[in-house]
Amino acid sequence: MLKSYNCDFHIHTCLSPCAELDMHPQALVKKAREANLDIIAVCDHNASENTPFVIKAAQGKNLSVLPGMEITTSEEVHLLAVFDSLANQAALQCVVYKHLAGINDEKRFGVQAIVNEAGEVEGINNRLLIGATSLPLIEVINYIHKFQGIAIAAHIDRESFSVMGQLGFIDESINFDALEVTRVTGLGGAGKKYPELSHYSFIVSSDSHFLKDVGTAVTRLVLDQISVPEIKMAFKGENGRRVLED
Ligand SMILES: [Zn+2]
Ligand SMILES: [Zn+2]
Repeated sequence: MLKSYNCDFHIHTCLSPCAELDMHPQALVKKAREANLDIIAVCDHNASENTPFVIKAAQGKNLSVLPGMEITTSEEVHLLAVFDSLANQAALQCVVYKHLAGINDEKRFGVQAIVNEAGEVEGINNRLLIGATSLPLIEVINYIHKFQGIAIAAHIDRESFSVMGQLGFIDESINFDALEVTRVTGLGGAGKKYPELSHYSFIVSSDSHFLKDVGTAVTRLVLDQISVPEIKMAFKGENGRRVLED
């Protein structure tokens, strides 16, 4: 049965160096439910180790957690990948780590904590997650699609680390499944600001790095069930699946 879901496909955890340590799985799930979100995607910078713990923390809480990632491409463009299985997220992670060099400087960039569903620290990720991979944008999109994921251009209305900011335009041939804007532009503003991109679907996400940000942006999707193919249909407006604009 078709139903509308409150979605935020861009939420970080304390694994991202720039996110606060309070963004651990349990706290994040609690805040997402308080904000009435139905579906979230965990998108840490170039990493994914906290995703299984967020999924565990959400069990029985009426919240669907999709495995995701915010990849930094070689052009320094942020790209979101959203999957409906941990195996597909792991496949992309393997590729990303092969193309990500460097060691994190905690004092400079922040701690990258792996925290379980009970709030216990499981370990520290020492890779330079804030860095750029050596993978060009087109190649990352191809990998995401190969692993049955959704490729979304992150915060295109921001100057830094966005496809518009870094490349200056979006080539029609780039196979994004959707374009994300921040709440500053909003879904209503996106169509007006980017009329030349109207053939893409827009979403709005919170890009939460702090608990207080969770719930500040919501995209409502009409889906029959929660899966990548259903979300892709919604982005294409097929068979009643759609993005609700409000
Ligand atoms: Zn970003
Ligand atoms: Zn982000």
